Amino acid sequence: MRHIALDANRLNANIKALSAFGANAQGGVSRVAYGDFDRAGRAYVMDLMRVADLDVRIDFAGNIFGRRAGTNATLKPLVFGSHIDSVPDGGNFDGTVGSLSAIEIARSLAESRVRTRHPIEVVVWANEEGGLYGSRALSGQLTVSELDNVAWSGKTIAEGMGFLGGTPSRVNETRRQRGDIAAYIELHIEQGGTLEREALNIGVVEGIVGIRQWEVTVTGFQNHAGTTPMDQRHDAMLSAARFVDMVNRVVRAEPGRQVGTVGRLLAFPGAPNVIPGRVVCTLELRDLDASKIQRLFDGILGEAGRIGDANGTTFEFHSLHENVPAPSDPAIRAIIDDAAKELKLTTRHMPSGAGHDAQAMAQLGPMGMIFIPSIGGVSHSPKEFSMATDIERGARVLMGALLKADTLV
Ligand SMILES: [Zn+2]
Repeated sequence: MRHIALDANRLNANIKALSAFGANAQGGVSRVAYGDFDRAGRAYVMDLMRVADLDVRIDFAGNIFGRRAGTNATLKPLVFGSHIDSVPDGGNFDGTVGSLSAIEIARSLAESRVRTRHPIEVVVWANEEGGLYGSRALSGQLTVSELDNVAWSGKTIAEGMGFLGGTPSRVNETRRQRGDIAAYIELHIEQGGTLEREALNIGVVEGIVGIRQWEVTVTGFQNHAGTTPMDQRHDAMLSAARFVDMVNRVVRAEPGRQVGTVGRLLAFPGAPNVIPGRVVCTLELRDLDASKIQRLFDGILGEAGRIGDANGTTFEFHSLHENVPAPSDPAIRAIIDDAAKELKLTTRHMPSGAGHDAQAMAQLGPMGMIFIPSIGGVSHSPKEFSMATDIERGARVLMGALLKADTLV
């Protein structure tokens, strides 16, 4: 394959320049979606897109698309990009690396006078961190009632979409159908420490894990902590404590990369001298395989029943949230593998434990993701950091993968 120059210095300089929008005192950014810094950063990004010879538009959901026609007008677009909004007190690399690499690749192709067969669309999604609002509008997973949710900026989703130049009343029209894209490929920082720990260059993402969350209510009998003998208690807290330990044991009992967490626990009435009559806690399970999540949950359900029976308490599970797993496409994975191999980079296949816009795009067509190392595995923090050389490697793999996809899909 023909060598195409990619200006890594310019890419890293642009990442630094974008970090000025919403810079916080700790060295990261607070560029929450729909805020003033988000909008100003998006204006900067759109300027970069125009310099890269892309036709820029903002869709009804506030997503930015930069498009360039291919040589074959009948082909669907190759879509690539990421997001530039951050969590409050976030870092300079989450989303930014993938967004600015995508623009730099489009610019490199233009400067090298390379025309792809497919149209290319560089995308910068709106409000990824708040819950994939922009990408879910495209995939049709966004519901109208969610437009009233309040984002970190203080605006509702509808207000925020409008603030970025979108038209929330027409957000349904931005929806695309399965098959409307040739492929979606996203470069992102790993946000975990696996690649750095194993001294590897590139993560080839197997998919984005599914997430299920439940609210768990343990009911016992509230009574006096001084007068109720130990053998006559129906202590909801004791059952909850055993539950927390049991979840950890069940999740670890089989091989794999599944994770399970009890992240919140509240005891009622919550007084030092009262045996808790009720405890409300959460259960969260994540894995790439939905049937494994179900199997783990079934196991936990059975064990919870036994824990409850042992001291006269009951467990009730109420589903809070479900995100289905989004596997990446095997052909796109192979393309990313090949692109990395040609650059003599080391790789490993891995799941993404964090959510990404790519999981919404998996609804529309073949999806792939490329990870680069996060130093110390730190993310969603001003301390988030990825090396300039790793960013360059990731961008080169993304460019190689795109050009391969252009000939194959
Ligand atoms: Zn991100």
